[in-house]
This record gives sequence, C-alpha cells and structure tokens, in this order.
Amino acid sequence: EIGAHQIGKTFGRFTALEDISLTIGRGEFLTLLGPSGSGKTTFLMILSGFEAATSGRLTLNGQDVTQMPAEDRAFGMVFQGYALFPHMTVEENIAFPLKVQRRGAADIKRRVADMVEMVGLGGHGHKRPSGLSGGQQQRVALARALVYAPPVLLLDEPFSALDKNLRGQMQDEMRRLHRETGTTFVFVTHDQSEALALSTRIAIFEKGRLQQVAAPREVYERPANRFVAEFLGDIN
Ligand code: ATP
Repeated sequence: EIGAHQIGKTFGRFTALEDISLTIGRGEFLTLLGPSGSGKTTFLMILSGFEAATSGRLTLNGQDVTQMPAEDRAFGMVFQGYALFPHMTVEENIAFPLKVQRRGAADIKRRVADMVEMVGLGGHGHKRPSGLSGGQQQRVALARALVYAPPVLLLDEPFSALDKNLRGQMQDEMRRLHRETGTTFVFVTHDQSEALALSTRIAIFEKGRLQQVAAPREVYERPANRFVAEFLGDIN
C-alpha cells in the first residue's frame, strides 16, 4: 500500500502540487486524470522517487520511503516515448532489467520467454524495435517494466502516440495484465474515457489539487464539484 500524506511540490515560486493525500491499495488500478498541467506527471515522478516532494510524506506499507533501501521501491515504469534500446532485440530489451539484477541465465531466459508470450509478441523476440509497429513497441516497454514482477507499475500516458484502434487494443491488454499479474497500476491520462474503462479508482487533479478520488461510477454519478462534473462531461 502506498500512502501520500499532504504532498506538496513547488518549482521556484510555482506550486505544482498542493496538499495531496491519498492511499493506493495493493492490486489497485488507480488512474490520475486531469487536464494538461494539472500535476499528474509531477505526482507520478514523486511516487517513482525521481522527484522529491517539497513537503509531505510518502509511505510504502506504512514505512517512510526515505528510510527505505532504493530496491524496496523499485517500481516498474512506462513513460511517454518509452525509449527502447534500438540496438537490442525484443528479447534483449526485456532481459535488460534482469541482467542489471544479475539473475542467472536460465532464469532470465524463462522469464523473458514468459513475458514475450504474455504481451502477445510470440515470434517477434529476435526483431529490433525499428522492425515493430508502435503498438508492438509499446508492448515491449510493458514487458520490460513487468518482467521483474515489480509491486507497482507507473505508467505516464503510455498510449498517447498510438492511433485510436491500437489504443483500444492496448487498453484490453492492460486490463488483462493487471488481472493476471496482480500488480498495482498507477496510470496517468488526460483521456476521460480511458480512465473510465480501466480504473478501479480515479484521482482527479486540477491545478495541482486533488478534486476527487473514487470509483469510476461514483465520480460520474456523484462528481464532487463543478470542475469534476464539467471535466467529465467533456468526453470525446
Ligand atoms: P500533461 O498532461 O500535460 O503531462 P500534467 O498534469 O502531467 O500535464 P505536470 O507535468 O505534472 O502536469 O506539470 C504540472 C505543472 O508543473 C505544469 O504547469 C508544469 O509547467 C510545471 N512543471 C513541471 N515540471 C516542472 C519543472 N521541472 N520546472 C518547472 N515547472 C515544472
């Protein structure tokens, strides 16, 4: 379980996040939803440890993350642009985090083969990223992030570069991976219908403040305020 306790973040005089408190339960699919510039990516960066909060506290299973060895919060990450290693094959890309962890060769081989199948890339393992479609490259990025079974997967608009059709396919894929792995997913999007389709709960951001956190149905049926109602009403 991840606990954010009154997290604040400023860049110089600009306040990017203010007083964000929320709990993310194990196995949840939590979507951070809000307009551009509302602070979603900043919050994800703080969860990942890449950015430090200016104020507040972050806990993992009740323990302050600053007191914790880095490997205990080694979350999987899939960000916009999902840089794959262009000179490596699909299998080598997926194996990379396991090599960093110095796993045995047989263990690596088995896990990579399992992941290639799991994300539907059977038969593509020896190709390089340049020989794959955008959706297939996205699957490699997902497999690489999930291969060492991180407790938490952080995803920042991973489908933004894909066309509508592929986006739909990837949404189905995400739902299945979430179900099959039991990993906690924290997913950033500004797309209301994507949030509705995927999430167990949605956290709605506006101008660095959390406006509502609730199950999709509840935010639609009982929006907490006018901003939430208007933002959700603006579905495309
Ligand atoms: P988008 O959907 O466009 O990615 P977002 O909701 O993820 O938006 P953030 O990227 O978190 O928004 O940015 C929140 C605000 O903080 C923005 O106004 C942004 O300009 C500002 N910001 C983010 N990072 C920095 C930084 N390193 N220095 C200064 N300002 C920053």
